[in-house]
Amino acid sequence: MEGKLLKVLVGSADHQSGSVIGRIKNLVTIPSTQKLFTEDEVSRLTGICLEHLRSLAQTKHIGSLIRAAGAAGAEAGKWLFTNSELMILNVLCPRCDH
Ligand SMILES: [Zn+2]
Repeated sequence: MEGKLLKVLVGSADHQSGSVIGRIKNLVTIPSTQKLFTEDEVSRLTGICLEHLRSLAQTKHIGSLIRAAGAAGAEAGKWLFTNSELMILNVLCPRCDH
């Protein structure tokens, strides 16, 4: 694992959240060498739950839906995001609190 990390601090304009912590919550640390992230990794890094992450990806046209070849049908596919898309998602959507 590379020791070099990229720290991204995003100012949050979350008007719904009255908490002080809410203003500094969007701090994401990702390995700078990693170029692609699965939906699970993005969800863990940004704090956005998978349900919201997928609906954001669809409505904002962010990320790529990869359909696994030969999948048994239950799995609709997996979303993949680039590191820049990860940061866009981090800006667009506040961390889920539910
Ligand atoms: Zn959510």
